[in-house]
Amino acid sequence: MRFASTRSPQLRLEMSAALVRGLAEDGGLYVPSEWPQLAPRSDPNDLPALAAELLQPFASGDPLEAELPALTREAFDFPAPLVGLDEARRLEVLELFHGPTAAFKDFGARFLAAALARHARASGRTLEVLVATSGDTGGAVAAAFHRRPGTEVIVLFPAGLVSPTQQQQLTCWGDNVHSFAVRGRFDDCQRLVKQAFADRELRARRELSSANSINLGRLLPQTVYYWAASLRIWQAHGQRAAFVIPSGNLGNATACVWARALGAPIGAIVLAHNRNRTVPDYLATGELQVRPSVATLSSAMDVGDPSNLERLRALHPDIDGLRAAVSAVSIDDDATRARIRRDFERYGRVWCPHSAVAAEAYARLPPAQTAANRWVLVATAHPAKFRETIEPIIGRTVPLPPSLTRLFERPASFQPLEPTLQALKQVL
Ligand SMILES: *Cc1c(COP(=O)(O)O)cnc(C)c1O
Repeated sequence: MRFASTRSPQLRLEMSAALVRGLAEDGGLYVPSEWPQLAPRSDPNDLPALAAELLQPFASGDPLEAELPALTREAFDFPAPLVGLDEARRLEVLELFHGPTAAFKDFGARFLAAALARHARASGRTLEVLVATSGDTGGAVAAAFHRRPGTEVIVLFPAGLVSPTQQQQLTCWGDNVHSFAVRGRFDDCQRLVKQAFADRELRARRELSSANSINLGRLLPQTVYYWAASLRIWQAHGQRAAFVIPSGNLGNATACVWARALGAPIGAIVLAHNRNRTVPDYLATGELQVRPSVATLSSAMDVGDPSNLERLRALHPDIDGLRAAVSAVSIDDDATRARIRRDFERYGRVWCPHSAVAAEAYARLPPAQTAANRWVLVATAHPAKFRETIEPIIGRTVPLPPSLTRLFERPASFQPLEPTLQALKQVL
């Protein structure tokens, strides 16, 4: 199987090459060039086995193929449980926050790290992984690459613009992980990464890679938990699962759409956005108008120009096809806060601000639609990651899960960095 660029279908690569490159050379994103119908036989409760089986067709002919079972054992070493929101279990929560940094990004980051470390070992060259982060991605990527031989990670975050909890997760690693507080905004961090990739002299001297959310190596493993959850529901109830997904850059949602395209028993998919309403407006009007992002409580979804929309449009090129594939809603901060308070009172469930956007989107679905399907709310992060936001809303403290407690016990260290390519090159 090969992967093609969304912009030029003839630009094709095998899996390892697509993972190392990240972005296609024409600026497009890699997508599968075929959509085989898969019928996995593994137990959906055994994520590593299921992942190895599902990803095998994508790795066929690639050096990673033989390594898949070992790789998925490393990457999928924590569960993705379905938990009933109430006793009747009509509505279930897919908890994706049981990994080392307590958010769904751990799945993709750990798979990508395990794959790139093998690539580095085979090539004998150290891989420099650059990651620009507005807060959440960097922690998952740093955790996943920490102490992996043959890799050095450079984390760039905007100085003073991430929450204390996020900053600790970006700066507590050491060893092969180097964290820099860039004097600028997130856009400056992202520009530096792009400039580094475009710099011939640097590329000749170093093998650079990027671990941001457009990397195929983060998207493919995310299809696995949608397969697992929908297969469990299919086996228990003989019905397709419908998902409500907190969405920003649409990496998580694209993985769900891909799983369905590959044959997973998935019905409706609802994209739950915050006040950054580019996608809901696009589906409503048919006109794509990207805009600057606005800051909200669910900061990891503050995206005005979602990159993975390009992948969704590649699969569903006309707008009516896309409208049939997904629906989208926009939820504001007041409604998000009210939902957090209400579901805590009613169910004792504490949502993170992102998951609460999905819970509110579900509550607004027409009753006929909720009654006709088995619905799953996707919980993307543990609420303790956003305790500064959540605790005042519910009037309680939110205890840290053991994974985060361990991160808080580690000493933090980082260096300041001027937002210029020159300064970045000096530290590489
Ligand atoms: C990154 C993130 C999201 C948004 O996911 P996308 O793949 O960018 O749509 C939602 N919730 C949390 C907690 C996140 O970290």
